[in-house]
Amino acid sequence: MAEVLVLAELNPAGGSDNPTVRKTTLEALTAARALGEPSAVVLGAPGTAASVRAQLAEYGAAKVYVAESDDIEQFLVAPKAEVLAQLVAEKAPAAVVIPSSPEGKEIAGRLAIKTGSGFLTDVTEIAADGTATQVAFAGQTIVHSQVTVGTPIYTLRGNSVTPEPAPAAAAEEPVTVSVSEAAKQSRVVDRVVEQKSSRPELTEASIVVSGGRGVASAENFSIIEALADSLGAAVGASRAAVDSGFYPHTFQVGQTGKTVSPQLYIAVGISGAIQHRAGMQTSKTIVAINKDPEAPIFELADFGIIGDLNTVVPAATEQITARK
Ligand code: FAD
Repeated sequence: MAEVLVLAELNPAGGSDNPTVRKTTLEALTAARALGEPSAVVLGAPGTAASVRAQLAEYGAAKVYVAESDDIEQFLVAPKAEVLAQLVAEKAPAAVVIPSSPEGKEIAGRLAIKTGSGFLTDVTEIAADGTATQVAFAGQTIVHSQVTVGTPIYTLRGNSVTPEPAPAAAAEEPVTVSVSEAAKQSRVVDRVVEQKSSRPELTEASIVVSGGRGVASAENFSIIEALADSLGAAVGASRAAVDSGFYPHTFQVGQTGKTVSPQLYIAVGISGAIQHRAGMQTSKTIVAINKDPEAPIFELADFGIIGDLNTVVPAATEQITARK
């Protein structure tokens, strides 16, 4: 069976000595199985692969290429692209699948240049014949594309594919890492671990509750957070809400913010501008709460509640909490 390289995106949640596999990696392993037999590529400091191998095995990695070196940890993405290019040259895989994070997209772009290959970003599906599905023009158009040059490289949009276990051997194969001087031009001088809330990561959450300008103040975002917490959801915000200082920019959903595709997206006090829709309209079920029955978000919503969010949201939170 053809080999497909899958770049493992890791989450240093338990500290850098004990990384975990991000859900995006499990999604990429699942999507890659349409094309062949996935081999995970673990890039990191010495000792990285040991704690993630079992999970990669559970989700279908027949092999795990272990490229461990301080050079990978100490420099930005260039060494990772070099190692992947070396593996593409040696193994001649049928394709490479990379999670569509900002880092993943940069690695994919560099890899495409190095290997003379075509690449498709933010794909939501990969078919057995290599055809990728992308959502374009703020979700107005669905595009099907194929790479026609080199080794197809895909970056897979988070939450587009449900991770499915498929136990495999995850046989470890060490990779000798030799990083060129050119790839060492930007060194990481410091890493600051962000203060994590107990809520799930926005782009990986299966439920997202987002607030817009209609929430009216930073203080009032507490009702959005309470609803999110009752559902075990992440909190998002429209650009108008973050620009007004109601919520931090890192939680912005939309064309110039994060792209989310959860099972359930609840838009509260959000009008549904095209730039907001671009970041959430592939959500499986969309619920809108808005006092304006003409708000464009209702065109997109599966379920709509016309009403004042200050009444509807606390009432919903109370009911959800009571039923738990
Ligand atoms: P509004 O459009 O002001 O809507 C507020 C809604 O709240 C209204 O529908 C109103 O009826 C409702 N409301 C008010 N009070 C209540 C209440 N008490 N109860 C219930 N409902 C109430 N926007 C993004 O979100 N993400 C992006 O990434 C993004 N990128 C952009 C990029 C560009 C280049 C540009 C030009 C714009 C971008 N925007 C983006 C901005 C976008 O065009 C909209 O301005 C923005 O999405 C509006 O946010 P909103 O829906 O919260 O606010």
